[in-house]
Amino acid sequence: MLKAKIIAVFKALSMAVVLAALTAMLSMVSCVPKQIASAHSVSHMTPFSAYRYQAPVATIQLTDSRTNNLWKAAIKAWNRTHAFTFKIVNSNAQIKADSFSSLNDEYRNTTGITYTRYSGNQLLSAKTQLNRGSLALYHYNINEQTNVAEHELGHTIGLLHNPGEDSVMYYRDRYVAVQPVDIAAVKKDYGTTTFEDTFNDAPIISHTFIDPVTIRDLVPLADQAPAFSPVRTLVEATKANPG
Ligand SMILES: [Zn+2]
Repeated sequence: MLKAKIIAVFKALSMAVVLAALTAMLSMVSCVPKQIASAHSVSHMTPFSAYRYQAPVATIQLTDSRTNNLWKAAIKAWNRTHAFTFKIVNSNAQIKADSFSSLNDEYRNTTGITYTRYSGNQLLSAKTQLNRGSLALYHYNINEQTNVAEHELGHTIGLLHNPGEDSVMYYRDRYVAVQPVDIAAVKKDYGTTTFEDTFNDAPIISHTFIDPVTIRDLVPLADQAPAFSPVRTLVEATKANPG
């Protein structure tokens, strides 16, 4: 009788231990950064624009103390790949990175904006900005904000949007840092030997990339929406204004 009681108590105790362990495991799982499950896990090499810098290196100026650390972390992530090197300078940079804060209708759902200026196949300069307002509104944590900064830096060196979610250049990227498909694209494009010097003949064109928010826990329906957010293109000036 006593033995049976002891066994029953022992069983109850071990169930409690198992339950506690399971609960702990579940809570650990829910703390893992969410990767949006990709039903279509085919990796596409990230598309590259028709323009680039002459070499896989560019100077960058960080002009906003509120986001400098984010940009620095994103720069580190890219520099670690050895596919491209960003050099931080204090003036006359090819790339300028800062931030703004706006929740008005135009920018409320925008996490980052990058403007590139190019002529022929030469990338002349770029400006990139994080929207602190929407990053805060939609509770992007530091890692997620850094992913957005890595995405914007990708635009500043010539990368376009990748329709696949396993790329930092996915148009709604929130959860993914620089990936092999992104590094491969930069290596491939900057490894190309032909770089035509068309600066004196071609107009200066600007591209504007406007990147939308991804709302946490909202798993998007399999890409029925266009995978590419609109890119504004306009002819900014002719050779008379080499800016
Ligand atoms: Zn983008």
